[in-house]
Amino acid sequence: MAGNIQLEVVTPEKVVVREEAQIVASPGTLGEFGVLIGHTPFMTTLKTGTVRYTSADGAEKYVFISGGFAEALPDKVTILAESAERRRDIDIERAQAALERAQQRLAADRGREDIDFTRTHAALERAMQRIKLAKTRGNR
Ligand code: ATP
Repeated sequence: MAGNIQLEVVTPEKVVVREEAQIVASPGTLGEFGVLIGHTPFMTTLKTGTVRYTSADGAEKYVFISGGFAEALPDKVTILAESAERRRDIDIERAQAALERAQQRLAADRGREDIDFTRTHAALERAMQRIKLAKTRGNR
C-alpha cells in the first residue's frame, strides 16, 4: 500500500513529533521494529533509545525516547514516552552531567539505602542514549 503514515511522539508535557513519515523504526523491548503504511495493528513496550523515521520529503530524523509504549495502526504510529526530544534539541552537556551523577551513585556502596540503584541505572541509560544520539552524524 502506498502513502505515508502519521507519526506522533508525545510525553505527558508535550507533543514532540506530529508528522507524516514514510517509515518509522522504534526500539521495542523485543528488538527494533519498523512500521510502514498498512501494517497490521499491534502494541508494544519500548526501550530507552532512538526512534528513527523518514519524513515525507525523504529526510532521516531521530528522536530520543525514554522507553514507553507504541501503538501501531495501519495508518498511524503513536509513541507515548515519559520524556522525548528531537536529536537537535538534546543538550549534550546536560546529558554528560547526568551521566556523571549516575556513575558516581553507582560507584557507591551497594548497601546504601539512600540510593535507588534501579532508578540510577535507568538515568544512566537515558544519559548514554542521549549522548550516543547527539554524537551521530546529521543535524535532524
Ligand atoms: P536530568 O537529570 O538532566 O534531568 P533525566 O534523564 O533525569 O536528565 P528526564 O526525566 O528524561 O531527564 O527528562 C526531563 C525533561 O528534560 C524532559 O522534558 C526531557 O525532554 C528534558 N531533558 C532531559 N535531559 C535532556 C537533555 N540532555 N537535553 C535536552 N532535554 C533534556
